[in-house]
Amino acid sequence: MNHDPIIERLYYVSSLLAISASVAEVREGPQTCLRLTRTLFHPAGGGQKPDAGKINGHVVLDVRKGEVGDAVLHFIEGVHAFQLGDVVTLHVDHERRHLNSAWHTAGHALAAAMEEVEPSLRPINGHHWPDEGRIEASGEPRDPAQFQARLEDALAGMIAADLAVTIDYNPGMPRYVRVGAAAAVPCGGTHLDRLGQLQAIRIRGVKIKKGITRISYAIDLAGASTDPAEPLDGAFAD
Ligand SMILES: [Zn+2]
Repeated sequence: MNHDPIIERLYYVSSLLAISASVAEVREGPQTCLRLTRTLFHPAGGGQKPDAGKINGHVVLDVRKGEVGDAVLHFIEGVHAFQLGDVVTLHVDHERRHLNSAWHTAGHALAAAMEEVEPSLRPINGHHWPDEGRIEASGEPRDPAQFQARLEDALAGMIAADLAVTIDYNPGMPRYVRVGAAAAVPCGGTHLDRLGQLQAIRIRGVKIKKGITRISYAIDLAGASTDPAEPLDGAFAD
C-alpha cells in the first residue's frame, strides 16, 4: 500500500503562505512553543532568517529547528492553552518571506557567479540576512583587481537571462537548489523562482585574507533599493 510521504517542512515543496495543521507537541515556557504536523514557517538556519507570521492570529516571535529530524519549533507570543491535535491556522508574512528569499537567492547567484569567474574558489559559508549578505569561499582570486568587476558582470548577465531557480527534493533525501545550469547545492532555504525578480545584485566589498575570500553583497528588488548606496566598510573587520 502506498502512502504519500509526510513532509513536515512543507515549504520544502510548496510556496503556499497559509494552511492549517495540527498541534503535535506543546512546550511550556514564557512563550508558547508548538511543533506542528506540518509547517510553512522556515526556521532560522542555513544563513537565512526565520519567517514571520501568525498562528491562530497570535504573532510568531521566532522559529527554530527542533532537535530531531525536520522538526520545527514555533514560538508564539503569550501563553495559550493548546492541546495535542488542535487544528491551527498558519499565515506566513509575505513581505518578510519575499525579502528573505530574495537575499538568500542572491547569495546562491553570487556563489554561482564566483565559481564561473574563478573556478578554483569554493563556497564554504553564507549569511543572507537582509542588509548583511555575504559569502565566504576558500581560495583566492587570481586577479583580485578585476575580480569584483567580473563578478558584477556575471551577475548582471544572470539576472538579464532571468535564470530559473529550481528545487530538487525527495523526502528523506537532501534537498538541492540550482541557479540556471550551475551545480546543484544542498539547501533547505526559501528562494525566488527566477533571478529576474531581482533588479540587481551589487558587490559591496571583497576581502581576501589567508586563503579565504569574503564577498559582501546587496540587492535591489524591483522598484526599491534595500540598503544604502555606499559601500559597507568594515563588514569583515576582525
Ligand atoms: Zn538556498
